[in-house]
Amino acid sequence: MLIWKGRWLEKHEAYISLEEPCLLYGGLVYETLRTYNRKLFAGKYHFDRLKASAGCLHIKIDMDYENFRKIISEGVEKVNCDVSVRIMLLPRGNISAFGFETKSYELIIFLEKLNISKFPEKVKVSLSKVRKIDDLATPAYLKIAGRTDILLAKMEKGDAYDVIMLGSKGQVCEGTFSNVFLVKNNTVVTPSLDSGILPGITRKNVIDLCKSLGITVEERWVEPIELCDADELFLTHTSRGVVPVDELSSCKTYSKSVGRFLVSKFEEYIGSIEENWL
Ligand code: PLP
Repeated sequence: MLIWKGRWLEKHEAYISLEEPCLLYGGLVYETLRTYNRKLFAGKYHFDRLKASAGCLHIKIDMDYENFRKIISEGVEKVNCDVSVRIMLLPRGNISAFGFETKSYELIIFLEKLNISKFPEKVKVSLSKVRKIDDLATPAYLKIAGRTDILLAKMEKGDAYDVIMLGSKGQVCEGTFSNVFLVKNNTVVTPSLDSGILPGITRKNVIDLCKSLGITVEERWVEPIELCDADELFLTHTSRGVVPVDELSSCKTYSKSVGRFLVSKFEEYIGSIEENWL
């Protein structure tokens, strides 16, 4: 593991102080990225999402995207393999009515050899009893460590790949680290952004991929019953792309033909979209 904290460090050289405000108040903003063939995937989208999360805490990131990308490319060269990249932004100063007082932060970049575990033989998901915190309390786009809804839902995961969370009005939202898609009669349906979900970068790519393939996509509020009624279910997230699901809560099984088709087209598609490689 290689860590950037203003300079490159090995894991054993990096530490954080017990006096870090984020240990007291929370507020650690993060993003997870990956490379394909040693090129950073969707770096600009992740950087913009990081800025939006930091903006929620009134923190303005003063590094520009060029510099951010340069640092990561330098790290990828050092590690010399495909990597997963974890960005952590630690707010500094005392929290006040106006956010973290000093509006300053420390940016930490971890690079780790990309290690994508094999698919489980059966990809199972279950429905979480924990509801997503309403957008009015915590915006769904705020990617912050220790969101209690995500934390408590993860604890229900067991041997499931992910658990699907509903929103405060009972609408289907997303997994704890993935966006949710279902397929009914060859139409792909996914919860709209106003359902209270993270605007997933893979989600956006998959919606555009479906459209480019002539597959109808509906972005709208989704009722939980539709999960039981669907022909297929699949999840999307950065480290894995598209993940077709076999089973929901041991009571519903799915076919996987559209999901598998999208898996087969995904890498070629994302490779062809210039904005993914800025
Ligand atoms: N939803 C949540 C709550 C997530 O944490 C993530 C990824 O971390 C996603 C969806 C998938 O987003 P992306 O495709 O940008 O990785």
